[in-house]
Amino acid sequence: MASACSVSGRSTSEVELIVITKNHPVTLVEQLVDLGHRQFGENRDQEAKPKAFELSASRPDSNPTWHFVGQLQSNKVKSVLQYANVIHSVDRPSLVAELAKQLPKLDRQISGFIELNLTSDPGRGGVLPENLEALASAVLQLENFELLGLMAVAGLGVDPRIDFDRALNSQQILLQVAPQARFLSMGMSEDFEIAIEMGATHIRVGSAITGPRVPTA
Ligand SMILES: *Cc1c(COP(=O)(O)O)cnc(C)c1O
Repeated sequence: MASACSVSGRSTSEVELIVITKNHPVTLVEQLVDLGHRQFGENRDQEAKPKAFELSASRPDSNPTWHFVGQLQSNKVKSVLQYANVIHSVDRPSLVAELAKQLPKLDRQISGFIELNLTSDPGRGGVLPENLEALASAVLQLENFELLGLMAVAGLGVDPRIDFDRALNSQQILLQVAPQARFLSMGMSEDFEIAIEMGATHIRVGSAITGPRVPTA
């Protein structure tokens, strides 16, 4: 991270490292907490929720930030809002509608990103760039929610620079309707250096830190 920041003349303080702990036990999160880390990401509610609650029991003063980075089904929103602080995968009107129902019941603020779909497959998670502006307008109406910016996952087998560049183009559209939504969640183990060079403010790194994931059924 430090060398990618220095290559692009950025300060390391501009980039938040989120360690993705999916498919790893809570003991790994505890070790990271004991090392001083506080930003964690998960992609499935069934796994994330018990982990978050176990961590708050075993490390009650740690005050971690939980990032939900996976596809979010509407029927999981209520559950995810019990522990998540940041949602990276706001991507469709039906999800925004469910958030509009559940967020007002909270006594705290959630923040999040709109996830972009950079592929030509509409079945993948993320909003297509042509629908971004309308979705952002709806997200801006949400109570108890701060829109931070865009999240993107580079496609497999393509030069991540091309995909990240498309994210930067979409960011210009977003900034017109939401000037404060200037953050970019992009970059994973394989491409975080490039993402940092291209302006990522939040990188989501799993296996490069945690080692290989144990596959689950
Ligand atoms: C698993 C995952 C990551 C981390 O992937 P690595 O390649 O292990 O760094 C980042 N973002 C999302 C959305 C993920 O699901």
